Amino acid sequence: MNRRQFFMQAALATTVLCNIPGLAAAGPQAPPRTGTKRKQAGYYWFTIGDIDVLALSDGTLRSNAKLLNDKPGQVDALLRQAYVPDPRITSVNAYLIVLGDRRILVDAGTGALLGPALDKLPESLAAAGFMPGEITDILLTHIHADHSGGLSMQGRRVFPNATVHVSRAEKAFWLDPANMDKARDNHKPMFVKARESLEPYAAAGRLAAFEAGQTVVAGITSRPSTGHTPGHTFYVLDSQGQRLVFWGDTVHVAEAQFPCPELAIEYDIDPEAAVRARRQAFEEAVREGHLVAGAHIAFPGIGHVAKAGQGYQWLPAPYVNDAIC
Ligand SMILES: [Zn+2]
Repeated sequence: MNRRQFFMQAALATTVLCNIPGLAAAGPQAPPRTGTKRKQAGYYWFTIGDIDVLALSDGTLRSNAKLLNDKPGQVDALLRQAYVPDPRITSVNAYLIVLGDRRILVDAGTGALLGPALDKLPESLAAAGFMPGEITDILLTHIHADHSGGLSMQGRRVFPNATVHVSRAEKAFWLDPANMDKARDNHKPMFVKARESLEPYAAAGRLAAFEAGQTVVAGITSRPSTGHTPGHTFYVLDSQGQRLVFWGDTVHVAEAQFPCPELAIEYDIDPEAAVRARRQAFEEAVREGHLVAGAHIAFPGIGHVAKAGQGYQWLPAPYVNDAIC
């Protein structure tokens, strides 16, 4: 086929396509296909045993946060090999567990604390058919603005009927003014934000602290994983022989930290302990073969972990869309 014949065939194909009744009719109503304000899918349903779980996107964040403990050139090489753009793109994920008559959020998004590109959790929740007033419990993996910022807006509770659960160590650390005085300057604003997010719940008697390791609500147990913050906590959901472990901030930069778990991030309050906790979490996920939910692993952040050479590898759970509506 020469060039002219090719263009004639292409033109004919276009004419035929444009004359298909359904397509022609759909044209004027179809949403615009370009534009920077278009939003992506914000929720993803999956099941653990017979329990429905919903991954919720609060949006994505462009980040240059510094990784620590690296050898010269190591992080750059890892990111280049993985085609990671600069600045890196980080998902901010939360999860909803539908457990009997309870509607349980794991983490609550950023709210207004990290800018307008985020704060999409309420919209993602609404798109999946849930109102903030339906949420009965909120389990915080830890108190950082990207996990607890969405709890309150201008001093009011966003989830008016929810009890916020957090480990006793985490609550004590962030709500004690003496710790803010002792903190590094770049960590001090985190204490202010923590207080703003949690105080409305404390004032309403809706802030509950647990000892790490306890069952928090029936069917969900907590497990300490300290380092990133002093009371950083995993939540473990079991049903019919399947297990999902909510990992919180065990991984911030998957492309670097799975192959090299010794890489800490500048937000870690205790980087050495955070590295130990990450290694333990990876080892356990490989040994037990359970699913993991990562707050900053690319949405929906659900997958398994495998050994790969000296390090580890992330295996995202396969996308499933076989629902019958
Ligand atoms: Zn985080």
